[in-house]
Amino acid sequence: MPPYAYLKNQFVPLEEAKIGVMTHAFLYGTGCFEGIRGNWNADERQIYLFRAREHYERLHQSSRLLKIKLKHSVQDLCNITTELIERGDFQQDIYVRPIAYKSSEIAGNLRLHELEDDLLVFVIPFGNYLDPNKGIHCQVSSWRRLDDNVLPSRAKITGGYVNSVLAKTEAIESGFDEAIMLTDDGHVSEGSGENVFLVQGGKLITPAVSDNILVGITRSSVMELAKNELGVETVERSIDRTELYLADECFLTGTAAHLTPVTRVDHRPVGSGQVGPITKKLQGLYFDVVRGKVKKYQGWCLPAYAKVKAKA
Ligand code: PMP
Repeated sequence: MPPYAYLKNQFVPLEEAKIGVMTHAFLYGTGCFEGIRGNWNADERQIYLFRAREHYERLHQSSRLLKIKLKHSVQDLCNITTELIERGDFQQDIYVRPIAYKSSEIAGNLRLHELEDDLLVFVIPFGNYLDPNKGIHCQVSSWRRLDDNVLPSRAKITGGYVNSVLAKTEAIESGFDEAIMLTDDGHVSEGSGENVFLVQGGKLITPAVSDNILVGITRSSVMELAKNELGVETVERSIDRTELYLADECFLTGTAAHLTPVTRVDHRPVGSGQVGPITKKLQGLYFDVVRGKVKKYQGWCLPAYAKVKAKA
């Protein structure tokens, strides 16, 4: 089945979903977006959207920051998403990309006010983004994380992702798997598309929300799982660069990255240089939860299909 997109208030085949070259968001990066994973559960023949409501609540928050009038409620947005999945008939892991953006086709207008807004949503098949099994090698980037007073990371603004792609490109071209960016004052902020966690003395440590991070939905989910299921508390505070080098364990969290262990930073082994025990336990738990296999957390998983898919 050809995939569909939702654009200008209607469902259209993805290949026909086009925007004009003078679109404000294209010229100036004035859109905000989300990334939502749909995780295929082969036993149940169902796709579970992980924390779709929270992602759409964050899209509303980002839109407020960019003065985008997002007319669709969280429920409308969830309904559009499940309809797109129905129409695409996906039977694998997927990624949902909603973008609320300044849609006026107008050049030379450096402003947010008095412009039109629109919503685009599309869905693509999506496997692993980083290798979740082996433990990746991160580079402390030479690119600093955007400051809240420059371009707020707290909102998922399309233009802000140039910062992430500069860092990720430098990391990959230098032979690493991912970048970790520091704030302007030298504290650990986040990965190009992930939050950072350290394990130290049996506790989790993660940068505070005021260290220019996107406040990740996976981040808060993992903090909750760690506390409820493992009795492991998380401390949110500023982290020095050298704490990365001396931690017992390290991992990244994010919609695309899931929970990915980091076993080396800047050519130095983290802890034993192997995936650590707390990281391993949390990752196992997390993967069961996102596929809708843990009853207690099924409220985090929105089934995409009203009727279970028949066997192909
Ligand atoms: N930081 C950045 C810069 C991101 O792009 C993402 C991915 N959305 C995250 C952190 C993780 O956020 P979440 O867990 O909500 O996907």
